[in-house]
Amino acid sequence: TAPGTAEIGVTGLAVMGRNLARNFARNGFTVAIHNRSFAKTQSLLDDHGDEGTFVASESVEDFVASLARPRKVVVMVKAGAATDAVIDELVPLLDEGDIVVDAGNAHFPDTVRREAALRAKGLHFVGTGVSGGEEGALLGPSIMPGGTAESYEWLGPILEKISAKVDGVPCCTYVGPGGAGHFVKMVHNGIEYADMQLIAEAYDLLKQGLGASAAEIGQIFAEWNTGDLESFLIEITADVLQHVDAATGAAFVDVVLDQAEQKGTGRWTVQNALDLGVPITGIAEATFARALSGSVPQRTAALGTLPAHTTPWAVEDRDAFVEDVRLALYASKVVAYSQGFDQIAAASEQFGWDIDRGAMARIWRGGCIIRARFLNRITEAYERNADLPLLLADEYFTGAVGNGVQAWRRVVSGAALHGVPTPAFASSLAYYDGVRAERLPAALIQAQRDFFGAHTYRRTDREGTFHTTWSTDR
Ligand code: NAP
Repeated sequence: TAPGTAEIGVTGLAVMGRNLARNFARNGFTVAIHNRSFAKTQSLLDDHGDEGTFVASESVEDFVASLARPRKVVVMVKAGAATDAVIDELVPLLDEGDIVVDAGNAHFPDTVRREAALRAKGLHFVGTGVSGGEEGALLGPSIMPGGTAESYEWLGPILEKISAKVDGVPCCTYVGPGGAGHFVKMVHNGIEYADMQLIAEAYDLLKQGLGASAAEIGQIFAEWNTGDLESFLIEITADVLQHVDAATGAAFVDVVLDQAEQKGTGRWTVQNALDLGVPITGIAEATFARALSGSVPQRTAALGTLPAHTTPWAVEDRDAFVEDVRLALYASKVVAYSQGFDQIAAASEQFGWDIDRGAMARIWRGGCIIRARFLNRITEAYERNADLPLLLADEYFTGAVGNGVQAWRRVVSGAALHGVPTPAFASSLAYYDGVRAERLPAALIQAQRDFFGAHTYRRTDREGTFHTTWSTDR
């Protein structure tokens, strides 16, 4: 291929970049490829060079020269300093109007900073969330591009073509300016944390309540996957629970150490929610539950020491209990999503991103880790009312969650009575009761604040701000 004809370029050809480059090529695009060390570029050509048209370069200069204008460069390297290093190398070689796409897992404030810096140089910088892991990158991920609307006119058709499709609709849309794309990807990952924790709690409830084996619980999850809960995570949970460890013949999940790890996107989501003042309790509990699982000295000190005063949980009506857990899981899941969408709305307002929440639910229906049938319901809810203040208050969700409220209460109270930790189920129910309460004890907190700090309070019966001269002479 003659120089300057590649429609898209990918630099950074580790697992993700390699698969993304192959996805572009398989969809008929001429793809310029580059990696800091040429071995990865060569390996891509050797293993998959026949899948489409690749233009390989050893130097960044040749890579940039091989691209058609406006140049579209996807950077898929390690997040953080490596991304800055690659951008710094690319920028002097680019011309006004060229587009740099960061498809790595950048923290959104970095994206805000990079976007502003490149915009000042007349370049487009598109921080893009990509979800779906290695397989998604190859077969069709969910893609969440930010940056300028103008850059999406060039990029949109290419990214939509390689994205996952659900009912023929691409799982890719323009999210909003600045860091909006990476922000939405971050919240996606936070919701993923909540979803996984809720599923893990449901598994534990079934294990403790029924004394069921992992394989039996796996069958329950497989059954659940045929209804409202149908999703990638429920599907893989059914498979994981039925998987037998080759070395021991035991259920696989029973030989895995019970300490969950995290790379940091859940933590970023919670940190940002604290900054915005948005209660994302489901995601926060899920993040802290991972931290608790890894708190080895504390767990060791508590084991066999902290009294439980519980009796074993022997559920009598097995089918009714399974249905209760299913309903409680669904309700808690809706709370986690409702909170995540609140966070997106708050950030959108704060940063002026104008994010369409219904569109976000639509592009999460395929390709990504939280892909699920019920995301259609979320899109429909925001189509009914784009400014919906609370997803839970949409007519569909008031019905769907309302039907399960009693089951939810039975499950959470049963878990508390029998000493089964359900932080995400329980906090989601507490949020539900808190947000629907006619009157909260926050009134007392305001009174306390006025007492010790003269912080003032407002009244229910009169406009204005008040302070009481408290007598300490009681
Ligand atoms: P990675 O291990 O995060 O990074 C390796 C790549 O970065 C290699 O191509 C490496 O080049 C390059 N690199 C590192 N430092 C560099 C530097 N200073 N200058 C130039 N290149 C440098 O790769 P990955 O696992 O494929 O992930 C790529 C990105 O996607 C990351 O941001 C990651 O967080 C994100 N990711 C996303 C998902 C998802 O589902 N969306 C999943 C996994 C990863 P060399 O070969 O020369 O060392």
